[in-house]
Amino acid sequence: MVVIMKNGFAKEQLQAVIAEMESGGVKVMVSEGSETTILGAEGNANRLNKEKLELLPGVEKVMVVTEPWKKANRKYHPDNTVIEVGGVKIGSNQIGIIAGPCSVESEEQIVEVAKAVKASGACALRGGAFKPRTSPYSFQGLAQEGIRLLQEAKRLTGMPIVTEIMSTDNIHLFEECVDVIQIGARNMQNFDLLKQVGRTKKPVLLKRGLSSTIEEWLMSAEYIMAEGNSQVILCERGIRTFETFTRNTLDLSAILAVKAVSHLPVVVDPSHACGKAWMVERMSMAAIAAGADGLLIEVHNDPTHALCDGAQSITPAEFDALMGKLRTMAQCVGRSI
Ligand code: PEP
Ligand code: MN
Repeated sequence: MVVIMKNGFAKEQLQAVIAEMESGGVKVMVSEGSETTILGAEGNANRLNKEKLELLPGVEKVMVVTEPWKKANRKYHPDNTVIEVGGVKIGSNQIGIIAGPCSVESEEQIVEVAKAVKASGACALRGGAFKPRTSPYSFQGLAQEGIRLLQEAKRLTGMPIVTEIMSTDNIHLFEECVDVIQIGARNMQNFDLLKQVGRTKKPVLLKRGLSSTIEEWLMSAEYIMAEGNSQVILCERGIRTFETFTRNTLDLSAILAVKAVSHLPVVVDPSHACGKAWMVERMSMAAIAAGADGLLIEVHNDPTHALCDGAQSITPAEFDALMGKLRTMAQCVGRSI
């Protein structure tokens, strides 16, 4: 249940509403937006008396929130959540571009790509150190050494680093060394992992699961937020359908759907969605046209020899050309990169 306060309500009126809600056994979340102040009930709101609350002075309206996601719900928090990554306010009018290789492979590789994507205007560097591979015989990532190399790339370029966590065992390492913690598609419903990242103070990039509905995805965001971390960036990376031409099917309508029901920012990963480097440009432009708050793009300095996801990786030169087109596209929809 959410209680919307009238414009210009008195402080004592707010206190009285909170007290009434708390007496019904719920915790109250106060959200002071640009236009309205909203009180959200956390916990079982069945015992709250809607009619009684509506009669309290200072109350504009009381709404029953039927969706199971609460903290991620736009009804609780009408303003967009804005998360700063590398000086870009993701969720605002600015669009953030995160770029880098699928995996960190060597110091030369990650530093070269980092310098290139930074020069082209990326706000953050991505690169996997712990890789969730389908086959146990494939390259599994450089693990801790990969994190060290990402930090070195950060030291040299000033770019924040985004990398995937696979195990709760590494939570302290990530909390200390990483700027944005990525939860991969395969771990979207690893609830222990979600709770652990929810207890950190780091922004979390939460990828949509391979075959997850929008509701399941938002419920995973809710797990993180319920632990106290509201800095969740959702990432649409394609879902599994019957189509096999592309690696996955990019669900562009998910951007609009999520933004209608949630205040969290949404970024799009066209690389994993399509699995083909030649599709990245047009899908990136389409994502921005559809309202994405950012993009996550795989860039490799030598895609043909990449240890992971070479077929979907674009080169630094292609990335640079793409950024020019994305700036134009952003302008068309009244935003900036
Ligand atoms: C990745 O970003 O490299 C990755 C493994 O992505 P996903 O979890 O979307 O498959
Ligand atoms: Mn990849």
